[in-house]
Amino acid sequence: MPETRADFLIVGSGIAGASAAYELAAEARVVVIERESQPGYHSTGRSAAIYSETYGNATIRALTTGSRDFLLHPPAGFSDQPLLKPRGTLIIGRADQREKLMRVFDECRKLVPSIQLLDQREILARVPVIRPDQAALGMLEPDAMDIDVHAVHQGFLRGLRRRGGAVITAAEGLRAARRGDLWQVETPAGSFAAPVLVDAAGAWAETFATLCGAAPVGLGPKRRTVIIFVPPPGLAIADWPQVIDAEETFYFKPEVGRILATPADETPIAPCDVQPEDIDVAICIDRIEGATTLSVPRVERKWAGLRSFVADRTPVVGFDPALAGFFWLAGQGGYGIQTSSAMGRTAAALARGRDIPADLADLGVTAAALSPARFKPASGGAEAVRG
Ligand SMILES: Cc1cc2nc3c(=O)[nH]c(=O)nc-3n(C[C@H](O)[C@H](O)[C@H](O)COP(=O)(O)OP(=O)(O)OC[C@H]3O[C@@H](n4cnc5c(N)ncnc54)[C@H](O)[C@@H]3O)c2cc1C
Repeated sequence: MPETRADFLIVGSGIAGASAAYELAAEARVVVIERESQPGYHSTGRSAAIYSETYGNATIRALTTGSRDFLLHPPAGFSDQPLLKPRGTLIIGRADQREKLMRVFDECRKLVPSIQLLDQREILARVPVIRPDQAALGMLEPDAMDIDVHAVHQGFLRGLRRRGGAVITAAEGLRAARRGDLWQVETPAGSFAAPVLVDAAGAWAETFATLCGAAPVGLGPKRRTVIIFVPPPGLAIADWPQVIDAEETFYFKPEVGRILATPADETPIAPCDVQPEDIDVAICIDRIEGATTLSVPRVERKWAGLRSFVADRTPVVGFDPALAGFFWLAGQGGYGIQTSSAMGRTAAALARGRDIPADLADLGVTAAALSPARFKPASGGAEAVRG
């Protein structure tokens, strides 16, 4: 089989690989290789589909805000339907969590001035099923939204193809080597070569990087469980915001006439086709029933997905300091969808050897914060506020 040549070869067609490929294809030949028979099978197809500008650390919040305009006003032909729809996010705290919630509020309102504090009466007026003792105080982010993940992901992939790029499925990168100025990658679907190899392999990003000879960055996939259940008849849930507790031990939100809930678990696990564990489903039900008057007699649907983080919970985006032409695009954690536009633009700029786009730099996104070089020597620098 002849070798397929590109300017950029991207491993992984989840939201990270798709958004970077879309941006790079505006000026270059881009090929994405994907192990599964369809893109989106892993983390991208398993999210809770929320866009929240108060979630995650400062870099995540900047990348999320930097994605807002694109997601609200995508270019013509990107999607037939709106990518974002009003939802709101409400963080609730007990009386003993007041101080923590006030700290989050003070930090977040710098970037998101529309957030507001709610008292118990205002919280219960919005979501009457919350038990009063769980809601002494609340922080409402009115402009948080539901994201149509499928539409965003497909929009990037369709745009990539329109720009002349390609996605090759059933093409797991099994072997990779740098020969001269090119990376050559062997897959069951043939050989691929490019001067720049972008590692967007999600939970497998570090596995693939070490196969290529890169030093590990400490990427840790963590399992998160989601359940869907039917609310009691007659309960008007459609306008509820997403509700999260101050310590993020659960959240729930309406999902097309049903309720989506998670125990916000973060169980470390090796990369795999992860499935929900009964114990996490039971913990989820217990927490929802403990914090609300809802009961969950039956789980209609359940799934689990992997959220992959490095120690400081900031993505790893940039050329490996020791491996020519090897570009990391990993560690999107629990934010890969809401940051996807800004992350794609940032990755494309850095992979072309350019500066971070000016609007994102103005929001505080820096190449240094994202760089894989920050792990040598290892640094912690955790500053996470929420998420
Ligand atoms: C339960 C849950 C809730 C979440 N909620 C939200 C949310 O509300 N908002 C938000 O923004 N984010 C959320 N996330 C996070 C978001 O889903 C992830 O950050 C994002 O999907 C990561 O995208 P990715 O492209 O890096 O990974 P993936 O989608 O996993 O894509 C990586 C791809 O690489 C492929 N691959 C791996 N190895 C190879 C190889 N050797 N060769 C070829 N292909 C390979 C895999 O098959 C996979 O398709 C949530 C995640 C979970 C699990």
